[in-house]
Amino acid sequence: MSVNQVVNYEVIALETPKIIRNCRNCKRSTEYYCSDKFRVNANQKLVDIWLIYNCVHCENTWNYPILSRVHVSRVDPILHQKYMNNDQETIWYHAFEINKLRKLCDAVNKDIDYALKKDKVDSNSSEAKIRISCKYDFGLRIDKFLAQILDTSRS
Ligand SMILES: [Zn+2]
Repeated sequence: MSVNQVVNYEVIALETPKIIRNCRNCKRSTEYYCSDKFRVNANQKLVDIWLIYNCVHCENTWNYPILSRVHVSRVDPILHQKYMNNDQETIWYHAFEINKLRKLCDAVNKDIDYALKKDKVDSNSSEAKIRISCKYDFGLRIDKFLAQILDTSRS
């Protein structure tokens, strides 16, 4: 039997993951949030770009290296402009590079707030396919997600 009814869910991230690392000021491991700002440095023809994170307790800064001493001729000018302008889409792209971030920090807290957008469904069919789309990969737990949208327990 085929199931024609498709329900689309879009998972919309409302924040970027926080990272966990040692803070020199707090003298312990703390969470850092993404400041939504790049730091761009040009030394002669060499470009450095970082994404800035701040400790949630004391605002101490950690710079996430995006480009390190790359010759300016090798940086795509459009992308370079996006770094200069703190383009939000570019910031979020880097802030969701969880595997890269994990290597530079103690851990990445992927438990972020998200919203759900659901298609309108007007049918009395008792069966449906569920299609889930998500722009950013933050390791959404499918069992947890299904329990939430179906309003049932995980077991
Ligand atoms: Zn701190």
